Amino acid sequence: MALNAPHEGTLSLPANPPSAAALPTQWPASLGWAPSPSQQQRFQQLYELVLWGNQRMNLTRVTEPDAFWEKHLWDSLRGIQTVLLSQPDHPGRPSAQRRAVDIGTGAGFPGLPMAIACPDWSVTLLDSTRKKVAFVAEVAQALSLDNALPLAARAETVGRNPDHRQCYDLALVRAVAPVAVCAEYALPLLAVGGLAVLYRGQWSAEETAQLALVVQQLGGKIQQVDEFTTPLTQGERHCILVKKITSTVPEFPRDVGVPAKHPLSPPSP
Ligand code: SAM
Repeated sequence: MALNAPHEGTLSLPANPPSAAALPTQWPASLGWAPSPSQQQRFQQLYELVLWGNQRMNLTRVTEPDAFWEKHLWDSLRGIQTVLLSQPDHPGRPSAQRRAVDIGTGAGFPGLPMAIACPDWSVTLLDSTRKKVAFVAEVAQALSLDNALPLAARAETVGRNPDHRQCYDLALVRAVAPVAVCAEYALPLLAVGGLAVLYRGQWSAEETAQLALVVQQLGGKIQQVDEFTTPLTQGERHCILVKKITSTVPEFPRDVGVPAKHPLSPPSP
């Protein structure tokens, strides 16, 4: 595979790149789902392209095959396990396409694994860093992922744009900001009935109580705190699932930079 890197001519991948393929039993044993051969091939191509992209920009420190599988591929898909397990028998039909947005996608996680694994979803890959969005756009093109839609913009701006505000069924946010900031980025983008998946590492009951009061202000309600460990290194993970139950008031999201500077806190009693 060769890609045209902007300003740098055509670059070829190494002839024998390492394999990020899990043992055949690892996907079903740990996730209850397994990729098809063509999805597995795309995961491997994604791995090779991230190694390639890492040579010219700082995309990820996770480059070893096992770590890439666990921390990028498996972790991305574990957050959307219920979506994966409720996929139709004949994916890829254009009917009733549902919309997901990956906010702060970086090198494309969790959005690119989702676009590969869930062809019946469109996945907007949103990031404010143009270089990273250019990278994910090249990957989407190289992998012929027509359902991956790269978008270079700030979450606060997109959250006020009528083409995106309250339009999504699913919003994913991993490793972007403190959880209250992630909630303010995600909830305005969701349609009522939609779900935000906030990927976190360690998590406490106190944080759940605080977040419940924050998401209330945004029209959300915590539906579940999904606690699990990663299959190879037993890392602690939590996915906080927040359901959108009423429209988000127009005050949110606040102006660019304000959510990160002054994260929402529970209202004073
Ligand atoms: N989600 C990826 C992952 O888990 O590997 C990448 C995480 S990277 C640490 C955080 C990304 O969030 C960066 O690429 C940054 O540009 C993006 N980001 C931070 N604030 C943002 C905002 N307000 N709107 C859009 N993207 C944002």
